[in-house]
Amino acid sequence: MPSPLLSHHIEEKILKALEMARPEDLQDEASRRNFVDTLPEHVRGCYGGNSACVQLEVGGKNLVFDCGTGLRVLGLDLMEREFQKGRGEVNIFLSHTHWDHIMGLPFFLPLFTKGNRIRFYGVHKDIGERLMNQQDPRYFPVAFSSFTADVEVLTLDGKQSVVLGDEADPITVTWKEMDHPGMSFSYRVEYRGKSVVYATDAEYKKLSPDSLKPTIDFFRDADLLVFDSQYTFIEGVEKEDWGHSSTFIGVDIALEASVRNLAFYHHEPTYSDFKLVNILDKTRKYLAAIGGESPLNCFLAREGKTFDLLAE
Ligand SMILES: [Zn+2]
Ligand SMILES: [Zn+2]
Repeated sequence: MPSPLLSHHIEEKILKALEMARPEDLQDEASRRNFVDTLPEHVRGCYGGNSACVQLEVGGKNLVFDCGTGLRVLGLDLMEREFQKGRGEVNIFLSHTHWDHIMGLPFFLPLFTKGNRIRFYGVHKDIGERLMNQQDPRYFPVAFSSFTADVEVLTLDGKQSVVLGDEADPITVTWKEMDHPGMSFSYRVEYRGKSVVYATDAEYKKLSPDSLKPTIDFFRDADLLVFDSQYTFIEGVEKEDWGHSSTFIGVDIALEASVRNLAFYHHEPTYSDFKLVNILDKTRKYLAAIGGESPLNCFLAREGKTFDLLAE
């Protein structure tokens, strides 16, 4: 569910900031500005309340994973660029079509500009029909078929991989089915020896090395793994079959697969930012206890956060 911040969340943040302030921090505008800059990200800002959407810029291409309500915000950003002139191109990969992963689609402005090329990919056989149905006139006033951009919907069913860009300098996308009601798919993108895995809406019920092997192989040596950690470990156990995982399982799997950066993603809408940070602190302690010298870097995914793999 999209989960906007409410007044009491903001009050909590203001109270925390005031608690941290010293008289000299509040003296003038410059000191106040400096003080705000030093506050932790969950106090001065928020992790965001839009549903699933991640953009990856790679080899001159725009890849997007999922069309949750975050896609509307991304659309506004893209419209500041070549998409406004109808010269944009984007490849959108869908993990699955639960509402939180498609409901931003009808509000994606680049779809309404002639000339933009927008390609949707999904592994479900009937992916096109699913997207059209969301915009049936009984549920939404604008039909999927009426977008003015050049739109294509492609099913990946039966294929092994997709290569984007130049054959000599390829961006390769592969996928894997995950354990989630109605099936979801994670995607792995490889480019010039760097790799990113987007793995949301996935439950790992069987944790034996044999059961996890295909997953570990798929995540192997990823420079960045975006990992569904919706619940605390305990809540994840209680909500068996709900199709989500936890930060602790993320750490176990990422260590096993020698992942370098682990982004905890798909936050539970009822968890406050303070609770998310508390879960992250515990998870880092767990990592320190079991990870030995592992350089694994784990953090909370945050709306608007950018991560530069080339600078790594
Ligand atoms: Zn789902
Ligand atoms: Zn979801």
